[in-house]
Amino acid sequence: MIHEIFPVGPLQCNCSIIGDETTREAMVIDPGDDIADVLAIVQKHNLQVKQIVITHAHIDHVGGAMKLRAATGAPIVLNHNDYTLLKMLDLQAAWIGMASPGKVEIDHSLAEGDKVQAGPLLANVVHTPGHTEGSICLYFPAEKKLIAGDTLFAGSIGRTDLPGGSFDKIINSLHGKLMALPDETVVVPGHGPLTTIGEERRSNPFLRK
Ligand SMILES: [Zn+2]
Repeated sequence: MIHEIFPVGPLQCNCSIIGDETTREAMVIDPGDDIADVLAIVQKHNLQVKQIVITHAHIDHVGGAMKLRAATGAPIVLNHNDYTLLKMLDLQAAWIGMASPGKVEIDHSLAEGDKVQAGPLLANVVHTPGHTEGSICLYFPAEKKLIAGDTLFAGSIGRTDLPGGSFDKIINSLHGKLMALPDETVVVPGHGPLTTIGEERRSNPFLRK
């Protein structure tokens, strides 16, 4: 598995490029900005982007999706519960003092139980409302890897004070779904350093029972 993780944009969202070494098929997760850098990494590995997966419709995660779609022809996929937020990108841009990326179109919705893949690399879509209504995580069971968006961070959890956020829902998503994963699962949060489910189970103040 090729997996490149690099921060993009002013809020340093962790963008992931996951590619299969045999078929060279790839998915890009959360191309918030800096699409020239994303494309350079795609080219360096000689990959073909098949899907653009968005963990949730905050501008720092979705802002570069249309540029990447134009460059690769890959569809943009996102949970439909975040469509309302996606229509507020101009407002989101104003909150953080960024230029608006314009309108972002969704090619299809991803729901709980759906799968996304790059060649033989398979991820299960886990719907984890709380940070936003449509927040999803991607779990790669064979690799025991979780792309967590802004639901879980090393030592913390996603904020729930923005429109569509709910503290009760994020706690339910974390305890009901993410804490059910094996301890050795490597977690790639939407911002900041990597962690594991076991480490967060032991030390995250929001997750200790
Ligand atoms: Zn967010």
